[in-house]
Amino acid sequence: MSFVTGLICRECGTTYPDGPHYACDFCFGPLEVDYDLAAAQGKITRASITEGPASIWRYGALLPDPGEAPVDLGAGWTPLRRATRLGEVLGLRELWLKDDTRNPTGSFKDRVVSVALSSARRLGFSTAACASTGNLATSVAAHAASIGWPSVTIIPADLEKSKIAMTAIFGGTVLGVEGNYDDVNRLCVELVAEHPDWAFANINLRPYYAEGSKTLAFEICEQLGWRTPAQVVVPIASGSQFTKVAKGFQQFLDLGLVDGGAPVLFGAQATGCSPVATAHRDGSSFITPQRPNTIARSLAIGNPADGPYVLDELRAKGGDCGSVDDEEILECIELLARTEGVFAETAGGVTIASLRQMIARGTLDPEQSTVAIISGHGLKTLDAIVDVATVSSTISPSLEAAEEALRFHQLVAAS
Ligand SMILES: *Cc1c(COP(=O)(O)O)cnc(C)c1O
Ligand SMILES: [Zn+2]
Repeated sequence: MSFVTGLICRECGTTYPDGPHYACDFCFGPLEVDYDLAAAQGKITRASITEGPASIWRYGALLPDPGEAPVDLGAGWTPLRRATRLGEVLGLRELWLKDDTRNPTGSFKDRVVSVALSSARRLGFSTAACASTGNLATSVAAHAASIGWPSVTIIPADLEKSKIAMTAIFGGTVLGVEGNYDDVNRLCVELVAEHPDWAFANINLRPYYAEGSKTLAFEICEQLGWRTPAQVVVPIASGSQFTKVAKGFQQFLDLGLVDGGAPVLFGAQATGCSPVATAHRDGSSFITPQRPNTIARSLAIGNPADGPYVLDELRAKGGDCGSVDDEEILECIELLARTEGVFAETAGGVTIASLRQMIARGTLDPEQSTVAIISGHGLKTLDAIVDVATVSSTISPSLEAAEEALRFHQLVAAS
């Protein structure tokens, strides 16, 4: 049972019934899903949650109604791992990794797509679509395939080969646009008007889609033993994940399900696409769009829809936003892999490098419990590391050659 009451405008508060609406008729503000938390008090309990499935749907009472059954490949309930070795390198007393590389299609997008397509099916849609920087397209194509729906996923044509392959394999229609994500998004807004019967996960279904990100906050609380962490580092593309992770913590606190205060959220961006970090640094309350140029393609949104709401949250709680270059991203992909055995895509490198930067800047407190969200798997961005991650030596198949190489790599003493 869901405690959703309908949709509400994030700007003027006008309410709308449940349905595929995404912009306010009066002020054009974005809509979001609204809940009756008073009615949920005492009905959503730790026990009712732990009885649920090992997926995002254990939090179904705080998600949009999925109809008869969710569209579900098993998104969520990913490991929260204590990262002692990485914490030591970074000088953090209590560091945790939320390992969202472990989702069905290898990124956090499975959370939002499972919710969006469940709502879409309940609302009568039968075609899935999206504007994507890559990971969303993969997840939409996979979830659509699992229920026999056609999909139309629209991406920049020059995306990583691995991400295009991971999307195309599911058999939907993949349109590569000669342009960047912001061009793709503009085109898709026009397509929504032409094809209102298509469920664009992140456009006309965006209010539902966005709710899926709250499950990151819910899981972090539950996995910490029903307490909030003090600080959370979240990668930012459109800023949807960031704002909804904040909403998730707040809902758990409002329902009295969790001990502790509201965490301070910190953002992570690549310098080659850092409109939120720049606006925050300049104390601006609006975003100046940027033309992206970074290896962190999954975060390359130059005009982030939720940017102003991220800035509000950063300012309200005293958070900060990192901005890291491509070299630091690669270095931190390697650092994470070598200290913790977790292989992240470029967005994960952005998160860890931003964490390191904000500790150095003194805005993130190394004494407080901190969670870093690792949002995508490294196999998605192999292109970024194939030139640096190679065999240590190539040798002939002889014991002599092997021993010589082992001496060279100082695994055995030189004779
Ligand atoms: C989409 C994505 C994000 C965050 O996206 P938002 O648009 O800010 O919600 C973070 N990491 C990865 C790997 C992604 O694919
Ligand atoms: Zn409005």
